[in-house]
Amino acid sequence: MSQAVEGRANGLALRVEHGGLHRHVYARFHRTYCKCGREATHRKNIFGEIVGIWYKREERSGGAIVKICILASSSAGNSTFIATDRTRVLIDAGLSRREIAKRLAFIGEDIQALDAILVTHEHSDHTCGLAAMAKVREPQLPIYLTEGTAPFIDWGESAPVLERFQAGRCFPVGDFDVASFTIPHDAADPVGYTLAAQGVKIGIATDLGYVTDSLRVHLGGTDLLLLESNHDLEMLRVGPYPWSVKQRVMSRKGHLSNEVAADFIENDLDVRVSTLVLGHISEHNNHPELVRNMGLKALDGRALFTRLVVAEPGVQSEVFWY
Ligand SMILES: [Zn+2]
Ligand SMILES: [Zn+2]
Repeated sequence: MSQAVEGRANGLALRVEHGGLHRHVYARFHRTYCKCGREATHRKNIFGEIVGIWYKREERSGGAIVKICILASSSAGNSTFIATDRTRVLIDAGLSRREIAKRLAFIGEDIQALDAILVTHEHSDHTCGLAAMAKVREPQLPIYLTEGTAPFIDWGESAPVLERFQAGRCFPVGDFDVASFTIPHDAADPVGYTLAAQGVKIGIATDLGYVTDSLRVHLGGTDLLLLESNHDLEMLRVGPYPWSVKQRVMSRKGHLSNEVAADFIENDLDVRVSTLVLGHISEHNNHPELVRNMGLKALDGRALFTRLVVAEPGVQSEVFWY
């Protein structure tokens, strides 16, 4: 009997039928057709090499899908929404509670339906809305953060529910298997995250001075990756910042430049990444078009199916479905 599931994932038409998979890729090649065994299907590049694995939707428990929206990503504010149909989390709350509520409502989500907030580090562009967000519902929203980060956040009058963990630890949050990993940044105990649910893995890696080996390992197998592309080195050099700040940004505990992000894409980007979002773009020392050109050029040499998205400062992204 024919069993078909149709949907859209990452802008790609998807149809699962008879345990096989039909996939139409409208990116680099038109109408790529794959059909293979029960477990998963694969994608090939123009040389016939397998460059990605696509898992059948039936294997994602109950047919659930993962929804992602980058509410904001820049030096002026960061927050990313990631959800299954049962678990809704934010990574960082670097916008006001009101702005987060507004941006969630725009994608049909209720701020009171959130299940948790995961914090990367204490800098205000990631935490300025955190204390207010903790009180957004009763019982209070649990806040996951590293042992070293917790003392550096001003909670004001509130006594939030904190779930402290050691950087590098993995833990479950509802449907998600969360993995944290230390990132080199001038904060107390900063981490990046991957969240995996129903065969889909999302990676968040911003605010890092350089690409560590641990980062490369953790970001392996991600389907959607938010990667920092903070500044253009030349713009930073001639830009308005005082020299001490320029040095900080460029340091190994600062932010990732376009040049280093390009190097990562050329050499380390996992073949599985179907959406690469370049974000945390500096409003003073970078430009989205520079980032886009860099990203496209770097991807050009890879013959991947990866779609490039540039997170413009202050602008909420589209919704990504997996
Ligand atoms: Zn930041
Ligand atoms: Zn930071």
